[in-house]
Amino acid sequence: MNSVNLRQVPSVEKLVQAVAGAVGLPRRVVAGVARAEAARIREQVVAGGEGVTFAEGVSRVRDELQRLERTALRPVINGTGVVLHTNLGRSPLGPVVAARVGAIAAGYSSLEIDLETGDRGRRAPLVDHLLAALTGAEAVCVVNNCAAALVLVLQHLCRGAGREVVVSRGELIEIGGGFRVPEIMETSGAVLREVGTTNKTTLADYERALGPATAAILRVHRSNFYQEGFTESPSLEALGELARRAGVPLIDDLGSGAMVDTAALAALEHEPTVLESVRAGADLVCISGDKLMGGPQAGIVAGSAHWVGRVRQDPLFRVLRCDKLMLAALQETARAYLSTAGDAIPDVPVLTLLAQKEQVLGDRAAHLVDLIGKQAAVGRGLSRCGGGTMPRSAVPSVTVDITPAGGNVDALARRLRLGDPPVVGYVANGVLKIDVRTVFPDQDSALAAAIGAALATALA
Ligand SMILES: *Cc1c(COP(=O)(O)O)cnc(C)c1O
Repeated sequence: MNSVNLRQVPSVEKLVQAVAGAVGLPRRVVAGVARAEAARIREQVVAGGEGVTFAEGVSRVRDELQRLERTALRPVINGTGVVLHTNLGRSPLGPVVAARVGAIAAGYSSLEIDLETGDRGRRAPLVDHLLAALTGAEAVCVVNNCAAALVLVLQHLCRGAGREVVVSRGELIEIGGGFRVPEIMETSGAVLREVGTTNKTTLADYERALGPATAAILRVHRSNFYQEGFTESPSLEALGELARRAGVPLIDDLGSGAMVDTAALAALEHEPTVLESVRAGADLVCISGDKLMGGPQAGIVAGSAHWVGRVRQDPLFRVLRCDKLMLAALQETARAYLSTAGDAIPDVPVLTLLAQKEQVLGDRAAHLVDLIGKQAAVGRGLSRCGGGTMPRSAVPSVTVDITPAGGNVDALARRLRLGDPPVVGYVANGVLKIDVRTVFPDQDSALAAAIGAALATALA
């Protein structure tokens, strides 16, 4: 009976032949998907179920391949107005930095050579110098991301059993993407010594927790949420003073770590800078490279020469070290800041996008509406910094609002996401909105064409 039923299982070879030409994925991937689909049908048949026609088998394999193909990493147009969009790769690097990364990627580089002697050298030491100059810290070292930076610092300070890190209950936060401060701390072997309450923690709370087992005091920037009302927490200065008296380092997990005054840039709240933390007395400050700094994914540990030097010697530093592409991007991003004079805005896309004037955005939106036609109109919106930064800030922005003639706005949004290039907007009050702030000006014609194509298929 089985042998009869198994004829209802399409042959893998024939499935591959039928599909391979029609999709852009390599034949081996097609074969893998066909094999998995055939196995699924076979199981169904063996269990006494129905098989499928060959055409149905082909269609299932093709659907799965198309689904897979859509997951390819590729450029998209960001019409969400969220500048540091975690799902869209956080900070864009800009053409100058990207060109340098491309040049380093495509060939050999001076990654670990002293070009004067020809001997082996340290890994791109200039990066650390530039970042120290930029942050105002005595010393800097870099790893893969801010989570790694925090784990490195904590693990270094908590080697040995029972070493405690004192932290306020009001700062045991979740950042997103599975980053939970208490879990990160436990991963690193630190014993969490929670003090205070969710809304109030006093200096005396910290003081009472200090003892021979204390390895460090940790302050965590709340990043993506804020507390209002009956709240209290000691200043960083007071914590720094306490840490010094106790003879332990003060770690400040800043997360975004702005390099410029965000309040001067746009209608934004002030985001703490590394320099403020260092001046206040933090010994080790951890920040992300791809949040408000606007560089590549990276974790920067900035602080005193003594503590950063120790952290750099830790064997875990070797495990978490950056690759040459990250280092190239960090080097050029830091240069972009350091070559900016006075109050000028550094040539860093995250900053220039945030600083764009509504008037300029309005002119571009009007031009886009002209190109798209009568289903589009200029609208208003609010841009956000995103990436778990400045939850209280929204910057007034200009949008292109699309009301499809057929009426199905969610279907239009999906078609735009699946277009080429993909365009990601948002739906509000039954209208698809594309915030012009996060669209680069040189993407305008591609955007108009993508919207035109999506509207045309909607009518077809
Ligand atoms: C974002 C953030 C992190 C994690 O940074 P990644 O670079 O994504 O690892 C850690 N701590 C704080 C306070 C943050 O805001």
